[in-house]
Amino acid sequence: MQKNRHSMLTSLMVVSGASFIVGLIIGYPSWTICLGLIGWALLQIRQFNKLMDWFHKNDDQIEPPETTGHWGELFDELSRLQRSQRSRETLLRNIIARFQDSTSALQDAIIIIDQNNNLEWWNKSANRLLGLNDQADQGKPVMNLLRDPRFVRYYKRGQYSDPITLPSPAHSDLKIQYQITRFGEADRLLVARDVSRIMRLEQTRQDFVANASHELRTPLTVIRGYLETFLDQELPRPLIRGLSSMQQQARRMENLVSDLLLLSRLEASHQISDEQPIQIHSVIQHIMEGAEQLALEKGHKFNLDIDPLHDLSGQEIELHSAFSNLIYNAVRYTPAGGTIKISWWVDKQGGHFAVKDNGPGIESIHLPRLTERFYRVDESRSSASGGTGLGLAIVKHVLARHHGQLTIKSKVGKGSTFTCHFPTEIITARLEPEDNAYEEQKLIGFKQDPAEDNQTTN
Ligand code: ADP
Repeated sequence: MQKNRHSMLTSLMVVSGASFIVGLIIGYPSWTICLGLIGWALLQIRQFNKLMDWFHKNDDQIEPPETTGHWGELFDELSRLQRSQRSRETLLRNIIARFQDSTSALQDAIIIIDQNNNLEWWNKSANRLLGLNDQADQGKPVMNLLRDPRFVRYYKRGQYSDPITLPSPAHSDLKIQYQITRFGEADRLLVARDVSRIMRLEQTRQDFVANASHELRTPLTVIRGYLETFLDQELPRPLIRGLSSMQQQARRMENLVSDLLLLSRLEASHQISDEQPIQIHSVIQHIMEGAEQLALEKGHKFNLDIDPLHDLSGQEIELHSAFSNLIYNAVRYTPAGGTIKISWWVDKQGGHFAVKDNGPGIESIHLPRLTERFYRVDESRSSASGGTGLGLAIVKHVLARHHGQLTIKSKVGKGSTFTCHFPTEIITARLEPEDNAYEEQKLIGFKQDPAEDNQTTN
C-alpha cells in the first residue's frame, strides 16, 4: 500500500511536470497544468468506478479488472486477498462437510439445544430415532417434541450425571437412552442412543435368573424334606455327619435361591410402586428378634440409638431385607465378644440407618467392589459364615429403589460402618412416639473413628 501511494504521487508529479513544460512551450503554463490535473483526476475517477463496479458485483468468483500503474497494483493486491480468502473458505467448508458427514454416519442421535431450550441442530439419526423433521422442528422447544413427563422432569432438574432410558416418541418399541451435557453459555448437547437390544438382553438375563431360581426351589425343598426325615431316624454316626453337612449345604442353596429371586425382583423396576408408612423401630425390633440368638451365641453386645420421632415411607419387605443383611453381616463377621451399634437418625440431609461393628474391617481396595454380586473380601471367611455373596447387592438395589445411597466406612482391625442414607422426601414424622424397649438402650460414648476408609455406592 505504501508503494502504491508513492506510485500515485509520482504519476501526479509526472502529469503536473509534463503539463508545465508543455505550457511553457506554448506560453500558457497555468492552463496546461489545470488541464493536465483535470485529465489525471478523470483517469483516477474512471479507475475508482471500475473498482466500485467490481465491489458491487459482489461475486467472489469474478477477478478484479485488469489495469496498469498504481491501480493495477491495487487490483493485483485485492486479487491476491480474494484468492487466499477463497481457499480459506473452501478449507472451512470442507471441515464443516466432514463434520456433518461424520455426525450423519453416527448411529446415535445428536441434538444441539440452545439457551432458550429450542432445537438448534441435529443429525440424521435424530430424525430416525426421535422422529424429528428437518424443516418443521427447527427452532422448536425440545420439550414440545420429547413430551414424556419423565424426560421433561429429567431435563428441568438439570442433573445430568446419569442418563435416562425411555421409549422413543417415534417408535414405542425402541428404548432410547438420553444423556445431556452442558456446553458454551447455557447450551446443551443431547445424545440419544438406541439401547433396545441391550435392554432385551438384560431382560432375558433377568428372566433366566428368575426362572432358574424358581425351578431350583422345588427340588431343593424335596431334598431338604428327605434329609430332615432321615436325620430323625437312628443312624450310624458317619451317616449322620454326612447327612447334616448335606442339610447345611441345602439350606445355603435355599438362601442363595431366595436371594437371587429377590434380586431379580428388585431389578425388574427401579421404582417402588406400593409405598407404605414404615415404622423403623418395629422393623429393627423384628430383625433383632432373629439376630439376638446368633449374637448371644457369639457373645456380642448390641447398642441401639433409634430416633423415635421419625419414620419413612417405602417398601417394608425390601427395607427389612436390606437392614437385616447389614445387621446379620455385622453379627457374622465380628469375632466373638464384639459390639454392634445400630442407629437411626434424621437430619437436614435426610434419614440415616447405620450399623457399626468393631470387627475385622475391610481394606480400602475392596470397598468400591463390595456391592457387586458374589464379591467377597475373604472367600473362606465368607463361606464359613454361611453368606450368599448377594447381601450387599440387595442392599444397594433396595436403596436405589428408595432414592437412597449406601456408604461404607471401614478400617482394618477397627471395624466397619455401613450407612443407608434416605432423602428427606420419604421421611415422615411420627405423631405419637411409641414406647419400645430398644429406645431405652441408647448408647452413650460410641465414637466414630475419623481415620476410617469410606466408600459411597449408588
Ligand atoms: P456375604 O453373603 O458373603 O456376606 P455380602 O454381599 O453381604 O455377602 O457381603 C460381601 C462381602 O463384604 C462379604 O463377603 C464380607 O467379606 C464383606 N463384609 C460385609 N459386611 C462386613 C462386615 N460387617 N465386616 C467385615 N466384612 C464385611
